[in-house]
Amino acid sequence: MKMGIIVLILKLTKTLEVVIMAVTIDYNLCKGAECAECANNCPMEVFEIEGDKVVVARPEDCSYCGVCEDVCPTGAVKVEPE
Ligand code: SF4
Ligand code: SF4
Repeated sequence: MKMGIIVLILKLTKTLEVVIMAVTIDYNLCKGAECAECANNCPMEVFEIEGDKVVVARPEDCSYCGVCEDVCPTGAVKVEPE
């Protein structure tokens, strides 16, 4: 009986594992402000244009929808586990 409870707790712990995601831009691939597709299409306004560069300004607002990855023409932006 006790063993059954321990197994159940282990299974619950595994289910509740937290995965921390991050939004990153590879500046070797990014075309910058002349592109800005990610900034223009992000529904949460995570990106900002700073001069000729697009930056991840508000990563905490990301909903992990994946739109920025879909619209990026060079594969520069990634939303993946940290
Ligand atoms: S995954 Fe969605 S919410 Fe997050 S930065 Fe990309 S477009 Fe914005
Ligand atoms: S969509 Fe891609 S290439 Fe364009 S600004 Fe964003 S990260 Fe850079």
